[in-house]
This record gives sequence, C-alpha cells and structure tokens, in this order.
Amino acid sequence: GAKVVVRDMVKHFKTPRGLFKAVNGASVAMEPGTITALLGPSGSGKTTLLRLIAGLEQPNSGRVYFDGEDITEYGVQDRDLGFVFQGYALFKHMTVAQNITFGPRMRKMGLDLDAKVDELLTLTELDGLGGRYPPQLSGGQKQRVAVARALACNPRLMLLDEPFGALDPLVRKSLRNGLREIVKRVGVTTIIVTHDQEEAWDLADHVVIFNKGAIEQEGTPEEVSRAPVSPFVMNFVADVCHIPSTCQLVRKVGFHTDKPYVMLRSADIRLRTDFEECTSCAAATVHDKANMGKLVRYYVRFDDDVDVDLTVSRQVDEERYDFDVGQRVFVDVSPEQMMGF
Ligand code: ADP
Ligand code: MG
Repeated sequence: GAKVVVRDMVKHFKTPRGLFKAVNGASVAMEPGTITALLGPSGSGKTTLLRLIAGLEQPNSGRVYFDGEDITEYGVQDRDLGFVFQGYALFKHMTVAQNITFGPRMRKMGLDLDAKVDELLTLTELDGLGGRYPPQLSGGQKQRVAVARALACNPRLMLLDEPFGALDPLVRKSLRNGLREIVKRVGVTTIIVTHDQEEAWDLADHVVIFNKGAIEQEGTPEEVSRAPVSPFVMNFVADVCHIPSTCQLVRKVGFHTDKPYVMLRSADIRLRTDFEECTSCAAATVHDKANMGKLVRYYVRFDDDVDVDLTVSRQVDEERYDFDVGQRVFVDVSPEQMMGF
C-alpha cells in the first residue's frame, strides 16, 4: 500500500445560505498497510474528506500525496484505489466472480482472472460462491464480495464508507475482524469512515476524530482513549460513564467543575469491597446489574441517593469484579481521570 498524506485540505460547498465549509483544513498522514478510521458524527465531513482523497471531489485548496508524489490533479482512475461504498453497489445481474473481476476486465489488466477470483474468494472466505448472484447472498457475504471486488485491481489505497451500515451487530463484529485480517494479509493502506466508536476502536491502527470539518484529535486508539483532549473526543472513546457533578463521588475525590456532568472512562473505574484499599472513593449500593461481554453495567446508588450507571471492565489487572445486587461497593476513581462537560 501507499503512504498517503493529506495536507491542509479545504472543501467548501455553495449553499443557498452561503459557503458551507464541509472540510476546513484537514491534515493527516497514513502509513503503508495501516487502517485509519475517520470517526465523527453525521455531517462532520468524513465522506467529503474520503471523496477528496479519492479524487471524486476537487478541493478548494490542499494537496494529496501518495508515496511522496503529489496526485491532487489526478483523476479517480489514475489513483489505484479500491472502493467499498455504503450499500456495496454490487452488480445484481453479474455473478460474484464477474463482480470481482469487473475492475480488472474494464482496465484490461491482463491478470489471470480465474486465479485472481480464486485467490480473492479464499481471502474473503467465499470459496465456492463464485457462481452465485448477489440476491442469493447474505448481508455479510455481500459485504465480503464488495471487499474482494475492491481488492481485485491490487489498489494502493482502499476506501470504505460506513461499510457495515445495514448489518446486525453480531455480523458486524465478525466482519470487522475479518476485514482487519484481510487488510493485514494484503498490506493495502486502508481508510474507513464510520460514526461507530466501537468499530473504529476494533479495526483501526490510527483513529482520526472529526468535528465540524476539522480534526479534533488523532492517534492510536490507545493514545486517544488514554488522553482525550476534549469532552467531544471523550464521547467518541468507547465505554465512558457520565456522572452528575452533584454526586458525592465527584466531591469526595476532590474534582472541581462548574459543568453539570463529569465523564470518565470505564477502564479508569475500580470497584472495591474493602474501603482500606481505596485512594479516593465513595460508597454505594448495587441496585441492578447487566452483563455486556467484557463489561458489566452496575446500577449503583451512592449514599447521597444519586443513582448512576457505572459500566466497568469485568477484569482489571488480573482482579475480577463480580458484585451482587444489594452489595456495598466502594467506587474508586482519581480526579485526573475525570472531565467536566
Ligand atoms: P459525514 O460523512 O461526516 O456525515 P459529509 O462529508 O457527507 O459528512 O457532509 C458534510 C457536510 O457537507 C454536510 O452538512 C453535507 O450536507 C455537506 N455536503 C456534502 N456534500 C455536499 C454537496 N455536494 N453540496 C452541498 N453540501 C454538501
Ligand atoms: Mg458520510
């Protein structure tokens, strides 16, 4: 895959109410073979940036470089891209194999097409389905055909826009593990647009958080979740808890804010049964609980009668947390890990 660099990208659209800045000065670098997630709310400019990188849209200013070469003036066809669009856009009247070879046939690439189809069907775990038509496939299978088709021309960059949109959560989860494996095996540089934090965190080597056409923060998933620069970013970090600022927990740990809520990451919350072990904590009673895989949600009532949903990791540093309804717990957090909003 290519090293892809985007510098100072700006895109304005004319609207009846004047110029709208869809992308307003975005710069980002993507290393060869890595997966970058563009993460942000709807309307924040993610698709527009993807289209600028693809050459489907011309920027007002800014440059795009592939392996150091300025390709800003290149047309879409000359950029060696693979696309997976929202909804996949498979050709319904073509078989899976014909869908996959569509690009190489159009470009007369002179590949051994049968060998290429076999290779891609195996890669995407679709062996034996080459003769089917898209309506005969499940949603997950269609998605994998779209990925196989995107890879057929050996692209330097693969672009995916909300590629798991219409699928149910379990299928999404298994597909994104599959996608990561495929990308790592092929080594193609990959950009995925999503508004789903969990998706970004599971898939990406690099997360870029978009807010109103600008990059609010970027880094590895670990970097961003360890040190979110703003409440906006904090809300895009997987697994945060919101606690009213009036709750005694906030006061007892010595956190001060004039905002109505504080946020903290699930991973920073410790629940203890022994007050002696606490550094800064407040007492509460478990009123209900719900298991959510690696996490457990405890509905607790603090001794000042403030109810809070605490979603915590089931296991932290080898220590297992398993509390019963009615049990007393000490909630242990540190003020540095709190953020007012
Ligand atoms: P996202 O993918 O993050 O949801 P988009 O990049 O699709 O956001 O859109 C960002 C903003 O730019 C939206 O407010 C959208 O309405 C506007 N926009 C996108 N494309 C056009 C266009 N061709 N003309 C006018 N406005 C557009
Ligand atoms: Mg979009």
